[in-house]
Amino acid sequence: MIPTLPDRLITELQQRLLAWYAVNRRDLPWRGRSDPYEILVAEVMLQQTGVERVAAVYERFLAEFPSFAALAAARRQEVLRAWAGLGYNRRAVYLHECARVVVERHGGCLPSEPEALRRLPGLGPYTVAALLSFAFGRDVPAIDTNVRRVLGRLFSLAPRDERQLRAAAELLVPAGRSVDWNQALMDLGAVLCTAGQPRCSLCPLEDLCGWSRGQQEARRNGDRVSMALRVAERPEPYLGSRRFLRGRVVAILRDLAPGTLLTIEDLQARLAAVGAHVEISHLEEIVRSLAAEGLATAREDDHDVRIGPPD
Ligand code: SF4
Repeated sequence: MIPTLPDRLITELQQRLLAWYAVNRRDLPWRGRSDPYEILVAEVMLQQTGVERVAAVYERFLAEFPSFAALAAARRQEVLRAWAGLGYNRRAVYLHECARVVVERHGGCLPSEPEALRRLPGLGPYTVAALLSFAFGRDVPAIDTNVRRVLGRLFSLAPRDERQLRAAAELLVPAGRSVDWNQALMDLGAVLCTAGQPRCSLCPLEDLCGWSRGQQEARRNGDRVSMALRVAERPEPYLGSRRFLRGRVVAILRDLAPGTLLTIEDLQARLAAVGAHVEISHLEEIVRSLAAEGLATAREDDHDVRIGPPD
């Protein structure tokens, strides 16, 4: 349960975390930027990819597509090529479509109103909140996985209690400091309050934290609570061979000359050459789904399926 947070507790949490952040903040290539386009690119890349892999691609992507206009004018295949290394290619399609809408409907400038942002392709609640804070300085919380975990532990919130989580997050944003505050929570979650074993002894919030108190209590009682909680938080192992195959197909297509079409058998052979063996019927189904999502071009007649890079 989230307590009714007294003002002095809110102030204490804010001061301690911001002081910790001033010394421990991660130096990341998208930090300190004010161009909404550059912030949007980072947020979309970070949605499902770790910071190290994003850092390796981010500046190169911006050098190739420095603005909404440049991205909107690019071919889909060029965008997918620049996206290589990040995975979850559907995000590149959304970002590309988003750039086209921003150019066509907003003159190449990202709108700053929440409703207009929500109408853009591929922008979910988290990305909209992150843009409002990082690009437009609004006092709103940006609740990503790290922030969710930190606040959940801090206030001993029930898992998936979205209402309590949001209430806590909104109460805590310091007026005029949402950028630092949101990034501070994210950094605490990435560096100390990690999914596996939080390093509470180094945390500036330790004596205020429900999780930490619970752990100390459990140790005193000699029970196995901490082990059970750690196991409960461990992510499910990834078993998605379908995702793997989709990624391999996209990688093959983005290196083809524009307009090239492969037969399904040729594609099957190219996949086999990189160790991915797949039945023709399964491959056809993957090809159709990639084409439906704008990640490929598929041409079908009665006898044949051919596939190429997206138009
Ligand atoms: S004391 Fe531990 S569990 Fe609580 S916020 Fe800090 S690192 Fe996370």
